[in-house]
Amino acid sequence: MRYASPTTVAEAVDLLGSEPQARVYAGATDLIPQIRSGRPEPTVMVDLKHIARLCAIADSETSFTVGAAAPTADVCAHAGLVVAFPGLVEASSLIGSDQIQNRSSWGGNLANASPAADTPPSLVANHARVVIAGPGGERTVGVEEVAIGPGQTSMSPGEFIVEFELDRPPARTADAYLRMTPRTEMDIAVVGAAARVTLDAEGRVTEATITLGAVAPTVVRAADAETALVGNEPADDVLDRVEAAASAVADPIDDKRGTVAYRRKVAGVLARRAVVIAAQRAAEPQRGRGGQQ
Ligand SMILES: Cc1cc2nc3c(=O)[nH]c(=O)nc-3n(C[C@H](O)[C@H](O)[C@H](O)COP(=O)(O)OP(=O)(O)OC[C@H]3O[C@@H](n4cnc5c(N)ncnc54)[C@H](O)[C@@H]3O)c2cc1C
Repeated sequence: MRYASPTTVAEAVDLLGSEPQARVYAGATDLIPQIRSGRPEPTVMVDLKHIARLCAIADSETSFTVGAAAPTADVCAHAGLVVAFPGLVEASSLIGSDQIQNRSSWGGNLANASPAADTPPSLVANHARVVIAGPGGERTVGVEEVAIGPGQTSMSPGEFIVEFELDRPPARTADAYLRMTPRTEMDIAVVGAAARVTLDAEGRVTEATITLGAVAPTVVRAADAETALVGNEPADDVLDRVEAAASAVADPIDDKRGTVAYRRKVAGVLARRAVVIAAQRAAEPQRGRGGQQ
Protein backbone atom coordinates (compact mmCIF):
# COMPACT_ATOMS: atom_id res chain seq x y z
CA MET A 1 0.00 0.00 0.00
CA ARG A 2 1.30 3.45 -0.94
CA TYR A 3 0.61 6.85 0.56
CA ALA A 4 -0.16 10.00 -1.46
CA SER A 5 -0.77 13.53 -0.27
CA PRO A 6 -2.06 15.71 -3.12
CA THR A 7 -2.17 19.44 -2.43
CA THR A 8 -4.90 20.40 -4.90
CA VAL A 9 -8.30 19.02 -5.85
CA ALA A 10 -7.12 18.58 -9.46
CA GLU A 11 -4.10 16.55 -8.34
CA ALA A 12 -6.34 14.28 -6.25
CA VAL A 13 -8.76 13.81 -9.17
CA ASP A 14 -5.85 12.84 -11.48
CA LEU A 15 -4.47 10.43 -8.92
CA LEU A 16 -7.83 8.71 -8.39
CA GLY A 17 -8.32 8.52 -12.18
CA SER A 18 -5.00 6.71 -12.65
CA GLU A 19 -5.38 4.35 -9.65
CA PRO A 20 -8.82 2.67 -9.58
CA GLN A 21 -8.06 0.93 -6.26
CA ALA A 22 -6.94 4.15 -4.53
CA ARG A 23 -9.00 5.38 -1.57
CA VAL A 24 -9.34 8.89 -0.17
CA TYR A 25 -9.40 9.49 3.55
CA ALA A 26 -9.41 12.39 6.00
CA GLY A 27 -9.12 11.23 9.62
CA ALA A 28 -9.10 7.50 8.76
CA THR A 29 -10.99 6.92 12.04
CA ASP A 30 -13.42 4.73 10.11
CA LEU A 31 -11.12 3.54 7.33
CA ILE A 32 -8.21 2.16 9.38
CA PRO A 33 -10.43 0.08 11.73
CA GLN A 34 -12.25 -1.27 8.66
CA ILE A 35 -8.98 -2.30 6.98
CA ARG A 36 -7.78 -3.88 10.23
CA SER A 37 -10.98 -5.88 10.43
CA GLY A 38 -10.37 -7.39 7.00
CA ARG A 39 -11.83 -5.03 4.40
CA PRO A 40 -9.74 -4.89 1.20
CA GLU A 41 -6.64 -2.70 1.36
CA PRO A 42 -6.48 0.15 -1.14
CA THR A 43 -3.42 0.29 -3.40
CA VAL A 44 -2.96 3.96 -2.51
CA MET A 45 -4.18 5.81 0.58
CA VAL A 46 -4.95 9.34 -0.62
CA ASP A 47 -4.63 11.79 2.29
CA LEU A 48 -7.02 14.71 1.72
CA LYS A 49 -5.71 16.79 4.61
CA HIS A 50 -2.96 18.47 2.58
CA ILE A 51 -5.47 20.15 0.29
CA ALA A 52 -6.08 23.57 1.87
CA ARG A 53 -9.61 23.89 0.43
CA LEU A 54 -10.66 20.62 2.07
CA CYS A 55 -9.55 21.76 5.54
CA ALA A 56 -10.85 25.34 5.42
CA ILE A 57 -13.91 26.74 7.19
CA ALA A 58 -15.15 30.03 5.74
CA ASP A 59 -18.22 32.18 6.18
CA SER A 60 -19.83 35.07 4.35
CA GLU A 61 -22.92 37.19 4.95
CA THR A 62 -25.07 34.50 3.42
CA SER A 63 -23.40 31.11 3.90
CA PHE A 64 -20.76 28.84 5.41
CA THR A 65 -18.34 26.57 3.57
CA VAL A 66 -16.80 23.71 5.53
CA GLY A 67 -14.01 21.64 3.98
CA ALA A 68 -14.85 17.94 3.81
CA ALA A 69 -11.63 17.03 5.67
CA ALA A 70 -11.75 19.86 8.25
CA PRO A 71 -11.26 18.31 11.70
CA THR A 72 -14.48 17.88 13.68
CA ALA A 73 -12.73 19.73 16.52
CA ASP A 74 -12.36 22.82 14.29
CA VAL A 75 -16.05 22.68 13.40
CA CYS A 76 -17.00 22.50 17.08
CA ALA A 77 -14.72 25.45 17.91
CA HIS A 78 -15.96 27.69 15.08
CA ALA A 79 -17.84 30.57 16.73
CA GLY A 80 -19.99 31.30 13.66
CA LEU A 81 -21.13 27.67 13.27
CA VAL A 82 -21.82 27.36 17.01
CA VAL A 83 -24.22 30.33 16.85
CA ALA A 84 -25.85 29.52 13.51
CA PHE A 85 -26.17 25.72 13.87
CA PRO A 86 -26.09 24.73 17.56
CA GLY A 87 -27.66 21.35 16.81
CA LEU A 88 -25.25 20.48 14.02
CA VAL A 89 -22.34 21.40 16.29
CA GLU A 90 -23.89 19.26 19.06
CA ALA A 91 -24.04 16.33 16.64
CA SER A 92 -20.40 16.90 15.69
CA SER A 93 -19.28 17.17 19.31
CA LEU A 94 -20.78 13.74 20.09
CA ILE A 95 -18.41 11.96 17.67
CA GLY A 96 -15.95 9.74 19.57
CA SER A 97 -13.46 11.46 21.85
CA ASP A 98 -11.07 14.43 21.69
CA GLN A 99 -8.60 12.24 19.81
CA ILE A 100 -11.21 11.12 17.28
CA GLN A 101 -12.46 14.69 16.84
CA ASN A 102 -8.97 15.98 16.13
CA ARG A 103 -8.76 13.61 13.14
CA SER A 104 -12.30 12.95 11.94
CA SER A 105 -14.33 14.97 9.45
CA TRP A 106 -17.86 15.62 8.18
CA GLY A 107 -16.77 14.23 4.80
CA GLY A 108 -15.73 10.91 6.34
CA ASN A 109 -18.82 10.75 8.54
CA LEU A 110 -21.07 11.18 5.48
CA ALA A 111 -19.10 9.10 2.95
CA ASN A 112 -18.73 6.19 5.37
CA ALA A 113 -22.53 5.96 5.03
CA SER A 114 -23.21 4.40 8.42
CA PRO A 115 -26.94 4.57 9.19
CA ALA A 116 -25.96 5.59 12.75
CA ALA A 117 -23.62 8.46 11.80
CA ASP A 118 -24.31 11.52 13.93
CA THR A 119 -23.86 14.50 11.61
CA PRO A 120 -25.95 13.53 8.52
CA PRO A 121 -29.37 13.97 10.22
CA SER A 122 -28.40 17.52 11.27
CA LEU A 123 -26.79 18.30 7.91
CA VAL A 124 -29.98 17.20 6.14
CA ALA A 125 -32.17 19.13 8.59
CA ASN A 126 -30.18 22.25 7.74
CA HIS A 127 -30.45 21.65 3.96
CA ALA A 128 -26.67 21.31 3.60
CA ARG A 129 -25.16 20.66 0.17
CA VAL A 130 -21.91 19.00 -0.83
CA VAL A 131 -19.56 19.92 -3.64
CA ILE A 132 -18.28 16.69 -5.22
CA ALA A 133 -15.20 16.65 -7.47
CA GLY A 134 -14.42 13.98 -10.04
CA PRO A 135 -13.22 13.32 -13.56
CA GLY A 136 -16.22 15.25 -14.95
CA GLY A 137 -15.50 18.39 -12.89
CA GLU A 138 -17.42 19.58 -9.83
CA ARG A 139 -21.11 19.18 -9.05
CA THR A 140 -23.26 20.17 -6.07
CA VAL A 141 -25.93 17.91 -4.54
CA GLY A 142 -27.98 17.82 -1.36
CA VAL A 143 -26.40 15.88 1.52
CA GLU A 144 -29.43 13.56 1.51
CA GLU A 145 -28.39 12.32 -1.95
CA VAL A 146 -24.96 11.03 -0.88
CA ALA A 147 -25.65 7.92 1.26
CA ILE A 148 -27.87 5.39 -0.51
CA GLY A 149 -27.51 2.45 1.89
CA PRO A 150 -25.24 1.11 4.63
CA GLY A 151 -21.67 1.69 3.41
CA GLN A 152 -22.88 2.77 -0.04
CA THR A 153 -22.87 6.21 -1.63
CA SER A 154 -24.11 7.69 -4.89
CA MET A 155 -20.59 8.93 -5.76
CA SER A 156 -19.02 7.46 -8.88
CA PRO A 157 -15.50 5.96 -8.92
CA GLY A 158 -12.94 8.76 -8.77
CA GLU A 159 -15.29 11.22 -7.06
CA PHE A 160 -14.85 12.68 -3.59
CA ILE A 161 -16.48 15.35 -1.42
CA VAL A 162 -14.65 18.68 -1.49
CA GLU A 163 -16.74 20.80 0.85
CA PHE A 164 -20.09 21.36 2.51
CA GLU A 165 -22.22 24.46 1.89
CA LEU A 166 -24.76 25.76 4.41
CA ASP A 167 -26.93 28.84 3.98
CA ARG A 168 -27.18 31.09 7.01
CA PRO A 169 -30.48 30.34 8.72
CA PRO A 170 -33.26 32.93 8.42
CA ALA A 171 -34.52 34.94 11.41
CA ARG A 172 -36.05 33.03 14.37
CA THR A 173 -34.58 29.73 13.17
CA ALA A 174 -32.58 27.19 15.16
CA ASP A 175 -31.76 23.49 15.24
CA ALA A 176 -31.12 20.76 17.82
CA TYR A 177 -29.78 17.20 17.79
CA LEU A 178 -30.28 14.43 20.33
CA ARG A 179 -29.11 10.84 20.28
CA MET A 180 -29.70 7.79 22.42
CA THR A 181 -26.76 5.52 23.20
CA PRO A 182 -26.51 2.63 25.67
CA ARG A 183 -23.33 4.17 27.10
CA THR A 184 -22.82 7.85 27.88
CA GLU A 185 -19.93 8.23 25.42
CA MET A 186 -17.80 6.42 22.82
CA ASP A 187 -20.85 4.63 21.49
CA ILE A 188 -22.97 4.86 18.37
CA ALA A 189 -26.56 6.00 18.16
CA VAL A 190 -29.47 3.66 18.79
CA VAL A 191 -31.49 6.58 17.47
CA GLY A 192 -30.52 10.13 16.49
CA ALA A 193 -33.02 12.94 15.93
CA ALA A 194 -32.44 16.40 14.46
CA ALA A 195 -34.93 19.23 14.24
CA ARG A 196 -34.79 22.67 12.69
CA VAL A 197 -37.59 25.11 13.35
CA THR A 198 -38.46 28.62 12.13
CA LEU A 199 -40.96 30.65 14.16
CA ASP A 200 -43.02 33.71 13.28
CA ALA A 201 -43.22 36.74 15.60
CA GLU A 202 -46.12 35.09 17.51
CA GLY A 203 -44.20 31.87 18.17
CA ARG A 204 -45.95 29.74 15.54
CA VAL A 205 -43.83 27.37 13.48
CA THR A 206 -43.57 28.49 9.86
CA GLU A 207 -41.00 25.93 8.70
CA ALA A 208 -39.77 22.66 10.20
CA THR A 209 -37.40 19.90 9.21
CA ILE A 210 -37.25 16.75 11.34
CA THR A 211 -34.83 13.94 10.52
CA LEU A 212 -33.94 10.62 12.13
CA GLY A 213 -30.75 8.57 12.11
CA ALA A 214 -30.13 4.87 12.92
CA VAL A 215 -33.74 3.88 12.25
CA ALA A 216 -33.40 3.05 8.52
CA PRO A 217 -30.60 2.39 6.00
CA THR A 218 -30.22 6.17 5.45
CA VAL A 219 -31.40 9.37 7.13
CA VAL A 220 -35.20 9.53 7.28
CA ARG A 221 -37.13 12.76 6.97
CA ALA A 222 -40.24 12.75 9.18
CA ALA A 223 -42.49 14.65 6.75
CA ASP A 224 -45.75 13.97 8.62
CA ALA A 225 -44.19 15.22 11.85
CA GLU A 226 -43.13 18.41 10.04
CA THR A 227 -46.69 18.87 8.71
CA ALA A 228 -48.11 18.41 12.22
CA LEU A 229 -45.86 21.19 13.48
CA VAL A 230 -46.13 23.85 10.78
CA GLY A 231 -48.76 26.51 11.44
CA ASN A 232 -48.90 25.73 15.15
CA GLU A 233 -47.19 26.68 18.38
CA PRO A 234 -45.26 23.69 19.73
CA ALA A 235 -47.89 22.96 22.41
CA ASP A 236 -48.35 19.53 24.00
CA ASP A 237 -51.13 18.33 21.68
CA VAL A 238 -49.06 19.31 18.62
CA LEU A 239 -45.96 17.65 20.06
CA ASP A 240 -48.00 14.46 20.68
CA ARG A 241 -48.71 14.37 16.93
CA VAL A 242 -45.06 15.09 16.10
CA GLU A 243 -43.96 12.24 18.36
CA ALA A 244 -46.47 9.76 16.88
CA ALA A 245 -45.55 10.69 13.30
CA ALA A 246 -41.80 10.39 13.97
CA SER A 247 -42.29 6.96 15.58
CA ALA A 248 -44.40 5.85 12.63
CA VAL A 249 -41.82 6.80 9.99
CA ALA A 250 -38.98 4.94 11.77
CA ASP A 251 -38.18 1.63 10.07
CA PRO A 252 -35.37 0.24 12.23
CA ILE A 253 -33.74 -3.16 12.68
CA ASP A 254 -33.46 -5.35 15.77
CA ASP A 255 -29.92 -5.64 17.07
CA LYS A 256 -27.98 -5.85 20.32
CA ARG A 257 -28.42 -2.09 20.86
CA GLY A 258 -32.21 -2.09 20.67
CA THR A 259 -35.34 -3.76 19.36
CA VAL A 260 -37.54 -2.42 16.59
CA ALA A 261 -40.25 -1.43 19.11
CA TYR A 262 -37.74 0.32 21.37
CA ARG A 263 -36.15 2.26 18.53
CA ARG A 264 -39.54 3.37 17.21
CA LYS A 265 -40.53 4.62 20.65
CA VAL A 266 -37.22 6.43 21.17
CA ALA A 267 -37.41 8.00 17.70
CA GLY A 268 -40.67 9.71 18.62
CA VAL A 269 -39.46 10.82 22.04
CA LEU A 270 -36.19 12.27 20.71
CA ALA A 271 -37.86 14.00 17.77
CA ARG A 272 -40.30 15.66 20.17
CA ARG A 273 -37.52 16.78 22.52
CA ALA A 274 -35.37 18.05 19.66
CA VAL A 275 -38.29 20.13 18.37
CA VAL A 276 -38.81 21.65 21.82
CA ILE A 277 -35.13 22.59 22.13
CA ALA A 278 -34.95 23.97 18.58
CA ALA A 279 -38.09 26.06 19.17
CA GLN A 280 -36.73 27.44 22.45
CA ARG A 281 -33.54 28.43 20.68
CA ALA A 282 -35.42 29.93 17.73
CA ALA A 283 -37.30 32.17 20.19
CA GLU A 284 -34.08 33.61 21.67
CA PRO A 285 -34.09 37.40 21.11
CA GLN A 286 -30.72 37.42 19.28
CA ARG A 287 -32.14 35.11 16.58
CA GLY A 288 -34.73 37.70 15.59
CA ARG A 289 -32.25 39.23 13.18
CA GLY A 290 -31.47 36.01 11.33
CA GLY A 291 -28.08 34.60 10.30
CA GLN A 292 -25.94 37.54 11.48
CA GLN A 293 -26.37 37.31 15.27
C1 LIG B 1 -13.57 5.26 18.91
C2 LIG B 1 -14.48 5.76 17.82
C3 LIG B 1 -15.63 6.44 18.19
C4 LIG B 1 -16.49 6.92 17.19
N1 LIG B 1 -17.65 7.57 17.59
C5 LIG B 1 -18.51 8.02 16.63
C6 LIG B 1 -19.72 8.68 17.02
O1 LIG B 1 -20.01 8.89 18.20
N2 LIG B 1 -20.55 9.10 16.02
C7 LIG B 1 -20.26 8.92 14.70
O2 LIG B 1 -21.04 9.34 13.84
N3 LIG B 1 -19.11 8.29 14.31
C8 LIG B 1 -18.24 7.84 15.25
N4 LIG B 1 -17.09 7.20 14.86
C9 LIG B 1 -16.83 6.98 13.46
C10 LIG B 1 -15.89 8.03 12.79
O3 LIG B 1 -15.04 8.64 13.74
C11 LIG B 1 -16.72 9.12 12.10
O4 LIG B 1 -17.55 8.54 11.13
C12 LIG B 1 -15.83 10.18 11.45
O5 LIG B 1 -16.56 11.36 11.20
C13 LIG B 1 -15.16 9.69 10.17
O6 LIG B 1 -14.37 10.75 9.67
P1 LIG B 1 -12.91 10.44 9.08
O7 LIG B 1 -12.43 11.70 8.48
O8 LIG B 1 -12.03 9.82 10.11
O9 LIG B 1 -13.27 9.36 7.95
P2 LIG B 1 -12.26 8.38 7.19
O10 LIG B 1 -12.03 7.16 8.03
O11 LIG B 1 -11.10 9.13 6.71
O12 LIG B 1 -13.16 7.98 5.94
C14 LIG B 1 -14.36 7.24 6.12
C15 LIG B 1 -14.87 6.79 4.75
O13 LIG B 1 -15.22 7.92 3.98
C16 LIG B 1 -14.38 8.01 2.81
N5 LIG B 1 -14.05 9.43 2.73
C17 LIG B 1 -13.41 10.19 3.65
N6 LIG B 1 -13.38 11.47 3.25
C18 LIG B 1 -14.02 11.52 2.06
C19 LIG B 1 -14.31 12.56 1.12
N7 LIG B 1 -13.95 13.83 1.35
N8 LIG B 1 -14.96 12.25 -0.01
C20 LIG B 1 -15.34 10.96 -0.27
N9 LIG B 1 -15.09 9.94 0.56
C21 LIG B 1 -14.44 10.22 1.72
C22 LIG B 1 -13.22 7.09 3.03
O14 LIG B 1 -12.72 6.55 1.83
C23 LIG B 1 -13.85 6.02 3.92
O15 LIG B 1 -14.57 5.13 3.12
C24 LIG B 1 -16.19 6.73 15.83
C25 LIG B 1 -15.01 6.06 15.47
C26 LIG B 1 -14.16 5.58 16.45
C27 LIG B 1 -12.89 4.87 16.04
